[in-house]
Amino acid sequence: MDVIDTIILGSGPSGFAAAFTLLKAGKKPLVITRNSFNNVCSEVTIESVEPVVDTLINDICGKTIAATASLGIFGGIYSDGQYTPTKFSGNSLRHGIHLDRGVFNAQLLSVMTNAGINIIHDTKARNIFNDNNQVTIVLDDGRRLTASYLIDCTGRKQVAGRLLQLPRQYYSPRLTVWSGIDRINIQIPTYAASFISEENGWTWLAPLENGLTGWTRVALTNHAALTPPFSIMENHKTGVRSADTRWRLFRPLYSGKILLAGDAAGVLDPAAGQGILNALWTGKIAAEAAVKMIDEPTKEQTIVQQYDTWHFKRFEMLAEQLRSYYKVRRIIFAVFLELFIT
Ligand SMILES: Cc1cc2nc3c(=O)[nH]c(=O)nc-3n(C[C@H](O)[C@H](O)[C@H](O)COP(=O)(O)OP(=O)(O)OC[C@H]3O[C@@H](n4cnc5c(N)ncnc54)[C@H](O)[C@@H]3O)c2cc1C
Repeated sequence: MDVIDTIILGSGPSGFAAAFTLLKAGKKPLVITRNSFNNVCSEVTIESVEPVVDTLINDICGKTIAATASLGIFGGIYSDGQYTPTKFSGNSLRHGIHLDRGVFNAQLLSVMTNAGINIIHDTKARNIFNDNNQVTIVLDDGRRLTASYLIDCTGRKQVAGRLLQLPRQYYSPRLTVWSGIDRINIQIPTYAASFISEENGWTWLAPLENGLTGWTRVALTNHAALTPPFSIMENHKTGVRSADTRWRLFRPLYSGKILLAGDAAGVLDPAAGQGILNALWTGKIAAEAAVKMIDEPTKEQTIVQQYDTWHFKRFEMLAEQLRSYYKVRRIIFAVFLELFIT
């Protein structure tokens, strides 16, 4: 039987980056995911990414993917009357992309499948056993799989962190994010995304190609003044998606043979479009750490600690950037954020 170098739980951007990085290093990753081609496209949800996301994807797998999943593009961001263009590459402006997340997820799966990465679809990890020599996961059909390492890329499900009850640190009060796609009844520029600050949160508006607008809103949880922006919606089209977006990070970002990446490691709210970019980066760096540990097992402790330090510093830097962003815009929950500085 083939030895499984590394099991990657999850096939979102962090799982994708981790799997490709291992494959390119000559290893044999096995991806286990609840996703399948049939279930990822079932609902259209919108997320916006800066152009650097497709550059990083190209670096990881030799292809660009985000453009294929585009529901609209943006040349810059309007925020409090100020316009900031997206990055220039040479002399030309590179556009940000409003992604159809279902199509994007399907693309990630398809590129992995075509590259020959071994994937078990439509399966959930139910339990994890982690000892000093190996890690074993139990799938929902009862199968047990054992590997040298596991990278948890299960997003907000945070499967390893939850099952193993790893300690975590909070960086914000409880925040909720809502998003949806609707026809709206206010005028916004169609070539830009708009970030509208409010006292207790913010709204992101993403004009799409079909006259609809993707919107995302973040506010203090249970704050009555900030529910989804029903007042600006016409012909409400899709369900409203909501999630807990309290800033949080597991400490440390490894346990035994398990490394945590993407949202499975930590969550910040989606301002500045960092979620997908961060998932790609941390998935890639976690897999590079796994490659080094497979090649040099005696250095395992040093390697996991280096990963932990890198990831922790990155998270703290992004949290600090967001904190300053909110402070400048006088979003009141910036005050609460200060209380959580550790
Ligand atoms: C409402 C909302 C709006 C957002 N807007 C933006 C945005 O505009 N821009 C942006 O960059 N980010 C945005 N984000 C954040 C972004 O969605 C995440 O940061 C990103 O998807 C994290 O990627 P990931 O690979 O860590 O996890 P995910 O993309 O969540 O992937 C998790 C994977 O794990 C699998 N999985 C879960 N549980 C199990 C299990 N038990 N067993 C096996 N597999 C499992 C899932 O099937 C999936 O394949 C938004 C998030 C929300 C909630």
